[in-house]
Amino acid sequence: MIGILGGTFDPIHYGHLRTALDVLQALGLEQVRFIPLQNPPHRGEPDLSPQQRLELVQVAVEGTPQFRADDRELIRQGKSYTVDTLLSLRKELGDVPLCLLMGSDAFRGFPSWHKPEQILELAHLVVMQRPGEHHPDNYKTRFTANPDQLRAAPGGSILFQPVTQLAISATAIREMLSQGRSPRYLLPDSVLKIIEKKSLYG
Ligand code: ATP
Repeated sequence: MIGILGGTFDPIHYGHLRTALDVLQALGLEQVRFIPLQNPPHRGEPDLSPQQRLELVQVAVEGTPQFRADDRELIRQGKSYTVDTLLSLRKELGDVPLCLLMGSDAFRGFPSWHKPEQILELAHLVVMQRPGEHHPDNYKTRFTANPDQLRAAPGGSILFQPVTQLAISATAIREMLSQGRSPRYLLPDSVLKIIEKKSLYG
């Protein structure tokens, strides 16, 4: 099984990395691909360019062999739709079960994504609880608590995975940086080093 974590990653932080490792270990995933979105359909322009956000993701996953930065959304033109990313991964990977990882905040908005039913045909969803978020209950008929059910099919199920509760967000990190406060220990030092060296958030 392969995990996919799409995000703005503006910037990537330990709330992405630790929770992805929790899921990888709990479900026995072979790999988690971190896929920065070029042009997120659901929000305004990110502070950093796609290339800058990709570079931070690449540096963050270095040293964890099961983590991989995947640039497929950055080389595609137009809006980043998850369904297109999954179709492209399917072409590359065949029928392997795909687990789309997302925080509970993202899952709450999932019904309004582009083609959610097709996304669920192409992948399972693995929902990670975020601090302060309650348990959403859309798509209840697809819920499972059994990871074997994920292994048995390429997609179609939704599993809630308990993860380390880290109240870290990219928004808070950007705010700290813009106010001249240090976000150290919320994200890898290697990522912070690049942010500081290139004065990425002003
Ligand atoms: P922002 O504050 O800019 O909205 P973010 O910190 O939520 O950013 P994203 O890149 O938007 O980060 O998140 C990508 C995915 O990772 C989303 O599915 C989100 O729910 C999940 N995620 C982000 N932070 C955490 C966290 N601390 N715990 C669990 N999941 C998280």
